[in-house]
Amino acid sequence: MTALPLQQIVLAGPRGFCAGVDRAIDIVELALQICPHPVYVRKEIVHNRHVVEALRAKGAHFVDELREVPDNATVIFSAHGVSPAVRVEAQRRALRVIDATCPLVTKVHLEAIRYAREGYTIILVGHADHDEVVGTMGEAPDRMFLIAHPEDVDKLKVADPTKVAYLTQTTLSVDDTRDCIEALRRRFPKIVGPTKNDICYATQNRQAAVKTVAGEVDVLLVIGAANSSNANRLVEVSTVMGTPSYLINDKNDIRPEWLEGAARVGVTAGASTPEFLVSEVVEALRLLCSAAVREVHVVEEDVRFGLPRELEDMAHGAGKTLPPRSGAVAVSG
Ligand code: SF4
Repeated sequence: MTALPLQQIVLAGPRGFCAGVDRAIDIVELALQICPHPVYVRKEIVHNRHVVEALRAKGAHFVDELREVPDNATVIFSAHGVSPAVRVEAQRRALRVIDATCPLVTKVHLEAIRYAREGYTIILVGHADHDEVVGTMGEAPDRMFLIAHPEDVDKLKVADPTKVAYLTQTTLSVDDTRDCIEALRRRFPKIVGPTKNDICYATQNRQAAVKTVAGEVDVLLVIGAANSSNANRLVEVSTVMGTPSYLINDKNDIRPEWLEGAARVGVTAGASTPEFLVSEVVEALRLLCSAAVREVHVVEEDVRFGLPRELEDMAHGAGKTLPPRSGAVAVSG
């Protein structure tokens, strides 16, 4: 490849792991230390192949459905949450469950349960087939409708338009979601919902960082998995701002033609992406040119979630003490 005119690599911050992902990975690692093996994980613990492979190498068994888990075994639910039907099935099978659902996803489940109990029809703004949406819809399947775009609002058939509530997936585009909620308010003036929306702090902060960086670079690389909702939204945010953006799994996906003529390249990572992948991408770019690295940080994050009670109980039952959480990311390349 010919020398690039690249002069600067701009790193977006915050980027990468959020508190929910950090906690979910810790849960699997701790369960592998205190629970009898094999330890099963239902679905990808977080949407990142590198994370899953690193945990698999440490002994975790990833399955798609509970039927692949033997009776009485230990199973961990992923950060995206599960529907009540999965919990019931796990209980019926006497599985030892450790729930790694992000507390911010659980909050949306609890809102769904409350609105359903109060007789509301619930409109969930989200993406069909995403694990989180499947789990949330399962809380009230008879009274919940899914929409993804403002145009979907007109197609809704609701029994009582004065008794409608909305909820949102945690990893949506802030701007697109606002458009959906405005369309819902126009159609259902009495609609109720969370104070703002359910988009989590990490998703909002990473999108805010991309908005700043996209305005300063010629192209933006987003490191994340194709099935990671929040990583895909980062690509969209940049693209909407007119800055071409590409989703890559790791440094091997970088295509030189994307960088041709670019003086500044931005780099960020979705909430499931380990930081070592960011370092590798920056190193790969620096091998192609002598660009300086600059970091743009729009907000500090200090969110940290506690471990699930059942994990502490299991450790206690096994006569073990949970090791302190370092806060360092244990997954590495
Ligand atoms: S992206 Fe948000 S909702 Fe999802 S795991 Fe991270 S903090 Fe939780």
